[in-house]
Amino acid sequence: MSCIFCRIAAGEIPSDMVYQDDEFIAFNDIHPQTPVHILIIPRKHIVSVAELADEDVPLMGRMMAFAKRVAEEAGVAEKGYRLVINMGPDGGQIIMHIHMHLLGGRKMADRMR
Ligand code: 5GP
Ligand code: ZN
Repeated sequence: MSCIFCRIAAGEIPSDMVYQDDEFIAFNDIHPQTPVHILIIPRKHIVSVAELADEDVPLMGRMMAFAKRVAEEAGVAEKGYRLVINMGPDGGQIIMHIHMHLLGGRKMADRMR
């Protein structure tokens, strides 16, 4: 298994886990861009938004609901936060296992970045 996020999900690589259930895990980003910077991933290996199959659509909906719970746990639900999914080179996706960035703890400088 070469995918770094699959290895984190399997517990083979240590991570600063903040929340998990049977389908998703949430852990702190190793290079946080904001005071709260959590990565949310499905345990299932899906490469990117571009690789989503029809069967994955309900899972992505549950990932959004999971993100909402993580934001509550992280204490940013009231003030707000940003959810970002990067896709491909122009989107800035580096890890090819679909993931959502949960960014919060400060006001974002720009509407889009
Ligand atoms: P991307 O640019 O693919 O959307 O985001 C990948 C994110 O994963 C980056 O913010 C990067 O800091 C984070 N990251 C990369 N490798 C690791 C790791 O081994 N552990 C953790 N916790 N985060 C990682
Ligand atoms: Zn993976």
